[in-house]
Amino acid sequence: MAHCTVEEAEKILDKEFKVLDKGFVRLVDYLGSDERIIQAARVSYGDGTKTALQDEALIDYLMRQQHTSPFEQVVFTFHLKMPIFIARQWVRHRMARMNEISGRLSIMKEEFYVPDIKNIDPQKKDKLERALEPLEPEEAEKIQKEFKKEQKRSYEEYKDLIERGLAREIARINLPLSLYTEFYWQMDLNNLFRFLKLRLDIHAQLEMREYAKTILQIVKTVCPVATASFENIMLGSVAFNGEEIDALRKVLAGQSNPLTGKKLDRFLAKVKNGIQL
Ligand SMILES: Cc1cc2nc3c(=O)[nH]c(=O)nc-3n(C[C@H](O)[C@H](O)[C@H](O)COP(=O)(O)OP(=O)(O)OC[C@H]3O[C@@H](n4cnc5c(N)ncnc54)[C@H](O)[C@@H]3O)c2cc1C
Repeated sequence: MAHCTVEEAEKILDKEFKVLDKGFVRLVDYLGSDERIIQAARVSYGDGTKTALQDEALIDYLMRQQHTSPFEQVVFTFHLKMPIFIARQWVRHRMARMNEISGRLSIMKEEFYVPDIKNIDPQKKDKLERALEPLEPEEAEKIQKEFKKEQKRSYEEYKDLIERGLAREIARINLPLSLYTEFYWQMDLNNLFRFLKLRLDIHAQLEMREYAKTILQIVKTVCPVATASFENIMLGSVAFNGEEIDALRKVLAGQSNPLTGKKLDRFLAKVKNGIQL
């Protein structure tokens, strides 16, 4: 048993990985690594199976069997800077510990998220997410200017209220969700994999996915073996329901696919593109 350090992870400690226009992800600290998962797992397997499974195979086995508790022995602390509307989604992942900048103690900085022109997209019809086809550039530019104008106006109002002696906790209430916030965030690897599965998915908001991609790279640096298993077993998987399994069996047996309409669309999206619609 030993304290785990990972050479590559030591190199990225404290480094700010830029996300969006003004945000970042910074790895403050980590506890454990692939080695810790193995140490923890071997406690439950005892001497009998000690040499039966090689380390990588053991981690892969744990992931496949959803024997998740050894992954909980690895813990990450991040310093994150993101717009408030992303932080609102972030905090829904409850199995974490966080400490955020206080708008009561501090004067909020004039830092707002301004989406890139290419990311100012229309709403997808009858769907949760953005449409893939971009807006006309002139229209997107116009909207971007409107965002900036309103952000400037609301910050000037905030500054003015502070100068007039209003309490910071009340002066801030009209600041928009595009304002950047910062927090420390700690989560274990099991919950972090769950978080990544949900937030790397195409249904997650684009800005959220950008943060999740950066977190994935950091996690991969600390735990390359466990992350490879996660990418293959959790990230690369889709879940088939009973009707779909039945359809798969029939198709593999050379029979026609019994699914039609939306059920067929969902089935094909999974089979062809690995997408859960
Ligand atoms: C695409 C997308 C859209 C979403 N839309 C919305 C939305 O419109 N509105 C909204 O409110 N949320 C929304 N969410 C948030 C979502 O409902 C979950 O709250 C969020 O993804 C956190 O997932 P989680 O519960 O697995 O994570 P965590 O909160 O980190 O929990 C991890 C696991 O711990 C266990 N756990 C957590 N808390 C408890 C508890 N109290 N008791 C017992 N076990 C617990 C559960 O097994 C859980 O799966 C959305 C999420 C996604 C990915």
